[in-house]
Amino acid sequence: MTYLGAHLSSSRGFYKMGLEALSMDANTFQCFVRNPRGARAKAADPADLAKLRELMTEHGFGPIVAHAPYIMNPCSKDEGIRELAARMMAEDLELVDQLPGSYYNFHPGSHVGQGVETGCRQIAAMLDRVVTPERRTTVLLETMAGKGSEIGGRFEELRRILDLAACGDRLGVCLDTCHVSDGGYDIAGDLDGVLEEFDRIIGLGRLKAVHINDSLNPLGSHKDRHALIGQGTIGEEAILRVIAHPALAGLPFLLETPTDDAGHGEEIRRLRSALRR
Ligand code: FE
Ligand code: FE
Ligand code: ZN
Repeated sequence: MTYLGAHLSSSRGFYKMGLEALSMDANTFQCFVRNPRGARAKAADPADLAKLRELMTEHGFGPIVAHAPYIMNPCSKDEGIRELAARMMAEDLELVDQLPGSYYNFHPGSHVGQGVETGCRQIAAMLDRVVTPERRTTVLLETMAGKGSEIGGRFEELRRILDLAACGDRLGVCLDTCHVSDGGYDIAGDLDGVLEEFDRIIGLGRLKAVHINDSLNPLGSHKDRHALIGQGTIGEEAILRVIAHPALAGLPFLLETPTDDAGHGEEIRRLRSALRR
């Protein structure tokens, strides 16, 4: 079974998102668990979460991914912003723990001139505060395009965070096809080579989820502008090779292309029918 889904616009209940995913021919989804720009967490309704869990079991959903808010920067120069990141992640993880088997994905952050090593240390320190023994959700570091002072544009940087964090063995990675291509990894031309490099540096066992996006910009551009599947520099054939790659079997594949739920539904159906050919 291929787990295909998309980032859903949230601001509605969890059960409703499950229904929306089903209507799109999806069997996984990604969502924010709070306003992407807002610092305030929404109170989770236990009955709503229970209904989603039931729907997911009934329809054989793969793991779903909660995405951290974009404003989170655990390696900011400003201690207040680092504190806010820790508080948001701790609150979000409490909520996501109520959906067993789900993932929580975050952008490692931007070191804003402090340097990669200091940034990695600050990220690892935050993770060690919030990924406490009672937490059940696996936290994922996302591969980034390496825009500005963003950490995570190189596999080595994610490896460094995993090594620095005492909770490192419990963490995973989410690979974003647009970001790695923009980061200089030739996912379109040499998927096997990129996955071999990922395996050598991070370990494929750590890879828990994949964001499938085309890119508006060429390999190594460090831009991070997503394109619709087939309308970018990666191309639909290369995206299909990612989804069908045996080393990635069983992972949730999530669209974050610039369209709405209806557009994502069309992309999912098109990808599913291409995979059957
Ligand atoms: Fe992301
Ligand atoms: Fe992404
Ligand atoms: Zn992106």
